[in-house]
Order: sequence, then C-alpha cells, then structure tokens
Amino acid sequence: MNSLEIFSTDTQLQVTVWSFVFLCFCGIIFVMNQEKASLNKAVKYLFIALGIDLLSVYYGYNMENFSASISINVLMALSLLFKLIIFILCTMAAGILLDERGKTTSVISTCFSIVGLIAVCYYSLVSPNGEVINILHNLMPAIGFAYVATAFFVRSFRRHNLGALIGCMCAIFMTYITVTNISATDSFAVEHWYSGLISNLGMGLCFILVYIDLQKEIIDSKNRSIEKYNRRIEEIIRLSPFPIVISRLSDDAILLANDNFQHLFGLKNQNIADYKFKDFFVDKDNRRLLNVHLEKEQEIKDFEILVHSKDSTTPFWLSTSANIIDYEYDVAIYAAFQDITDRKKREDLWQTQATRDPLTSLYNRRYFEEEVNRRIDNQPGQIFSVFMIDADHFKNVNDTYGHKTGDKVLMALASTAEKALRENDIVARYGGEEFIVYLDNTKAEEAKSVADRLRESIAAIEVIADSGETVKFTVSIGIASSNYTTDINELVKMSDDALYQAKESGRNRCIIYHPNMEPEPSAVREQKAQENVHPALAKNNNIEVSLLQKDDTDKDM
Ligand code: GH3
Ligand code: MG
Ligand code: MG
Repeated sequence: MNSLEIFSTDTQLQVTVWSFVFLCFCGIIFVMNQEKASLNKAVKYLFIALGIDLLSVYYGYNMENFSASISINVLMALSLLFKLIIFILCTMAAGILLDERGKTTSVISTCFSIVGLIAVCYYSLVSPNGEVINILHNLMPAIGFAYVATAFFVRSFRRHNLGALIGCMCAIFMTYITVTNISATDSFAVEHWYSGLISNLGMGLCFILVYIDLQKEIIDSKNRSIEKYNRRIEEIIRLSPFPIVISRLSDDAILLANDNFQHLFGLKNQNIADYKFKDFFVDKDNRRLLNVHLEKEQEIKDFEILVHSKDSTTPFWLSTSANIIDYEYDVAIYAAFQDITDRKKREDLWQTQATRDPLTSLYNRRYFEEEVNRRIDNQPGQIFSVFMIDADHFKNVNDTYGHKTGDKVLMALASTAEKALRENDIVARYGGEEFIVYLDNTKAEEAKSVADRLRESIAAIEVIADSGETVKFTVSIGIASSNYTTDINELVKMSDDALYQAKESGRNRCIIYHPNMEPEPSAVREQKAQENVHPALAKNNNIEVSLLQKDDTDKDM
C-alpha cells in the first residue's frame, strides 16, 4: 500500500485546513507586530495567492459541473490561469521578501509570467496536451509557494551563515516536493493535499523566524543607537569645563567622571568604580533630598550640596544641576557642579551682618522683631513673655573707665544673658546698652524669676578695665507678657514702661508691666533714643567710625 494512501480524503482535508489556520494565525501575528509596510505587502500577496489556491481547488473538483456549456479546453485554460496568477502573486511576494524594492525579482517574475501565459494558451487552446497541462497544473503553484518559503527562510537568516544553510536546505526540500508532485501524476490529489500541508506549516514557521529576526534587528539597532548616545555623552562630559559625574541611581556607584570631577574630589589615578557618589556628601540627608527631587522632577537646577573630597574632611559647597538619564543600560544621575564655597562664605557673612550686632554678636533688633513675629504667626495663642534689660548708670561706666571698658561691659552682659537663657529663647541687642529677650512658652511670673536670676548673674560679673580696676554693674529689667497683647511693638513698649518703673523705683530690679502703670514720659523716651549712640560716634558727630576699631577713637578722646 502506498504510504500516502493511509490518509483518507477527509483526514487530508482536515490536516490541510488546520495547517492553513496555523499559517493564517502566524501571518496575523506577524502583520500585527512588525511595522515594515513592504513586508506586510508581501504577506498580503501571499494570502491572496492562498485564497485563489483554495478557490482553484474548489473549481477543479467541480469542473465537470461547468463542462456542459463550455468546452473542456477553455475550462482547463481557466484552471491553469488560476494557477498562473497564484504563481505570479507568489513571485511578487518572494521578490519583496528578498529585496524590499523588488526590482530585479519583478523583472524575473514578469518574464516567467509571460512565458507561463504563452504555455497556458498554447497547451490548452492551440495544441492541447493533457500531460503538460497536468504538469503545469501542479508545477506553477508549487514553485510559487516554494519560492515564497525559500525567500522567507533566506530573509530570516540572511545575516547568519546558519540561516543561509537552512535556506538552501529548505529550497532543496521544496524542490523535492515539487519534483515528486510532477512525477507522481496519477496520485495528483493525494500529493496535492500533502504538499499543501507541508507548504502551510513551512510558511507558518517562516513567519515565526522572520518575526524573531525582525525583533533581533530592532534590538540590535536600538543597542547601536544606545552605544552611539553613550559615546556622545562621554565625549561631552570629557570636554566639559565643569566637574561632571554619572552615578547609578540604584546604588550610587560612579559610572563615569571627567578629569575635573576627579581632580575636585581627589580621585586622580584612582579607580572611580570603587567610589559611590554619596561617599562625598557631608550630610546624608542632603544626598537623599537630591534624589527625592530628582525622582519627582527628573531634573534639578542649582541644588546646593555640602561635600568633601576623598582624603579631606574639610567641607566645600557645590551647586549642582542634575538629570535622570539612561546610561550603559542603567538609570543614572548626570550631575554637573560649580564650586560656590566663596559665594556661600560671602552669603553667610552678609547674613550675619544683616542679623547680628557686631559688638556683642547677639541678634539685632530687626532680626528679633522678624523672628518673634514669625513665631507668633506659627504658634498662635501661645503664651510668651519679653523683657527689656538696661544697664544702670552706664554713662558713668563710660565716663569713669572709658568707652572701651564700656564696650567690654556690654559684651560681658551679652554673653551672660545668652548663656543664662534656653536655646529656644531669643536675646538681642535692642540699642545702646539695652537688650531685649523673648521667652518661649513663659508666663509673666516665670519670666520674672528668669529675669531675676539673670539680673543676679549680671551683678556678679567683674570686668577688668584698662586701668586694671575691677568694674561691677547692675541692670534693671522690665517684663511684659502676651496676656495683654501679641503685638510685639506693643509688648516692647510695655516692657519699656515696666523698665522705666524699675529705674524710677531704684534700679537693679525686675518689674512686671501692669496697665495701671505710669508710662514712660515720651520726652524721656525721645531723649534716651538720642543718647543711645556709641560715645565714639556721639563725639565725632557725622564722621563714620568703625566700632570694631575702637583703639584709635579711644586715643582721640
Ligand atoms: P540709666 O540707669 O537711667 O539707664 O542710666 P544710663 O546712664 O545707663 O542711661 P543713658 O541712656 O543716659 O546712657 C546710656 C549710655 O550708653 C549713653 C551712650 O553713650 C552709651 N552707649 C550706647 N551705646 C554704647 C556702646 O556701644 N558702647 C559704649 N561704651 N557705650 C554706649
Ligand atoms: Mg538706656
Ligand atoms: Mg542705662
């Protein structure tokens, strides 16, 4: 029994239909997942050819139904024309697959089509020959599909030697099927379905191979452009006049650093891969904050960081602009730096000059008012107290020991007050020999006991005058608390009234403000304001004198 006869016609039909379904499935997946229009065109031609093949099979089976009205030769010619169209469509598809512009192959397929058309007309109409017609009937679609299958194989592996080998083997195999098909003319039907199964499965496999190859091609071209992009970034970084680093986002490992960066952080002649970006940060929170900003906004400008170099703990300020980038298949931080240590120092100095009193280094009046207002806004309803300290008979100190000693007294007073108070309290030089204190979360009575303690500590201070004599002094303190008002200017005025009472009732004492208190006469207040200037300035009138260079002014007087 012929091995092919084990298939009943039904089974063969089913096998062929399922293999065709498999082919269609592969074709659809292929078309959906690749974007090359020319390849999709080739697939379209192939499917039209397959559709016509199915139609022609149906036509072949039912040919006797048409034979009543039309001559058998014309029917045969029509049947052969179907096969020729299949062949032409297949050569067009294969042409595109092999060479996307398909020019060479289209010339060849045109020639074959003309020869085929002449053969069809000649053998079926002019000089009918049943044997040649049968051969052409099997040969044309088989060669067409073999050509497409081979083109698929060659395309999928054309960049690899193994692919070329498989392509050749496939071509030989398909040729073998074609030849057996032609030679076994008496078992045409069986051979036809058998070759249909093979060509469907073969082409389905081809689709998968071409698809895999296209994906590889996409990945390769992406890799090539990533490589190009990385080399470009490296070149820019290398030539930059600024220190630049690229570090991996996940573990902070330094991936690339230019010479300027290595020089700045003392990494010259070191293996930069051994270091992490965070190793150079003085404050780890500062490092974390940089990442938080970057992850949120992807880029950051003029972010200030305090860092140190590899071998030194001396910190320096940098301003950094950073981005999140892809580098060497990692998510990385690209950061460029500018040394702003000098700027920072200047800013600190300006800040100090703007907020501090140069003689005592205490906060100045402006800072005091701003800071207290800020706290009042932040904690509305909170009880607090302020008290005003004024040195007693300070004019006498100046007059007796010289204003240089007077300055020493003020400095001693300031440092004693600063030490005696809590970290959260604020002490400031309000003017001349007057100091103001803000006590957080403190009622008037509590403030009085703090003030009394401070007054006693001040009374115990001994300052050595230039003459060698010991100078002792006292202060009077006026207290006011927020149960009357939270307006700081009002409170200062109240504490001033209380201070006036303390002076009036004998000095060296602390008095809490009360609304029934006799206020400080405005004339006294104005006079005090006028007198509250450094004696050196008072004497030199409009001449500008630096209070920090007191020796010269001392001599003048
Ligand atoms: P009272 O007990 O009433 O406060 O008397 P007083 O002499 O302390 O008060 P008055 O307001 O009459 O004098 C304050 C003096 O403090 C006048 C001013 O020249 C002096 N003074 C102001 N600022 C400075 C300073 O920075 N250094 C020195 N040495 N003296 C200063
Ligand atoms: Mg005074
Ligand atoms: Mg005074």
